[in-house]
Amino acid sequence: MISCREASRLASESLDRRLRPAEQVELRLHLLMCRLCRAAFEQLKILREVGRRFFSRGPFEEDLPDVHLEEEEKERIKAVLRANASSCS
Ligand SMILES: [Zn+2]
Repeated sequence: MISCREASRLASESLDRRLRPAEQVELRLHLLMCRLCRAAFEQLKILREVGRRFFSRGPFEEDLPDVHLEEEEKERIKAVLRANASSCS
């Protein structure tokens, strides 16, 4: 089985590009076996989704249908996104 480090790299890349079939199998297998990576991957997908909404729609939407974040978490994420957005403009 691939390592957690390798799995997190593949998980992150899977959001940006189509993984090769062998990579997909390795990642799926690892996620099946490893609860920590599964949880980390879920969080990663949520963060990507939040980021995508933030940049594509302008104002941050308060009612994200499948994402439930505490107010404090939302503020933290917004702060990070704003910092990133201002550094690349
Ligand atoms: Zn793992």
